[in-house]
Amino acid sequence: MIEISHVDKWYGTAFQALKDCTTSVAKGEVVVVCGPSGSGKSTLIKCVNALEPFQGGKITVDGISVGDPKTDLPKLRARVGMVFQHFELFPHLRIIDNLCLAQEKVLGRPHAEAVAKASKLLDRVGLKIQAQKYPAELSGGQQQRVAIARALAMDPIAMLFDEPTSALDPEMISEVLDVMVDLARDGMTMMVVTHEMGFARKVANRVIFMDQGEIVEDALKDDFFGKP
Ligand code: ADP
Ligand code: ADP
Repeated sequence: MIEISHVDKWYGTAFQALKDCTTSVAKGEVVVVCGPSGSGKSTLIKCVNALEPFQGGKITVDGISVGDPKTDLPKLRARVGMVFQHFELFPHLRIIDNLCLAQEKVLGRPHAEAVAKASKLLDRVGLKIQAQKYPAELSGGQQQRVAIARALAMDPIAMLFDEPTSALDPEMISEVLDVMVDLARDGMTMMVVTHEMGFARKVANRVIFMDQGEIVEDALKDDFFGKP
């Protein structure tokens, strides 16, 4: 589903953030990306979603080449859901409208259909009764679950997560991880940057370890953690 092949990425001309990175994520696979701060984890998944350009190598998502200038980037980004550390909801829109906006603007879904989809997903993440509220009225954990539901509303073929729980208070982390575990068990293709090794042990198929822009380990979960 996601093929990353010999990718080099420079910020400016002086700093190489990714060095010859090669890996892949198969359909239905959950790959956890870990490693020290500044090792390039966030940069790697931003390249997959074309949020950052890269200079060498190739990335394809479901056969579509990310770096190809002919690729329709808004469409690609819609099909590859991304969830950030900070929830990045639209503060002036109610929760329900946060979930409908891109469905209507990017996918051209009729309003009623978008609302129905949004309601179903809010129910799935346990937030149906919050639909008419504004983001600031929700806890961090609730906002992050809204962000996940919003990405899912686009019927993504894969989901990317960039430290989705690291801005949350400890008591809210598990409510977000539970939603992610549920997604993984449902067969979603996922690439997850996280320090939550409990999550990795539970649902990851593989774990990638990055250091100074390089993928220094890419192992099946049991090989990474040792057999249970
Ligand atoms: P991680 O997610 O592993 O913490 P990042 O991918 O965020 O690492 O960053 C990798 C390196 O690239 C870091 O040294 C960071 O400072 C640098 N970096 C990230 N974004 C930029 C940017 N926009 N401009 C310049 N350097 C950046
Ligand atoms: P995240 O890990 O969620 O991407 P960061 O704190 O690493 O968040 O980065 C926040 C923003 O600052 C990003 O847009 C990133 O590209 C940019 N950034 C990070 N490091 C640097 C840097 N050394 N120089 C310039 N911009 C940077």
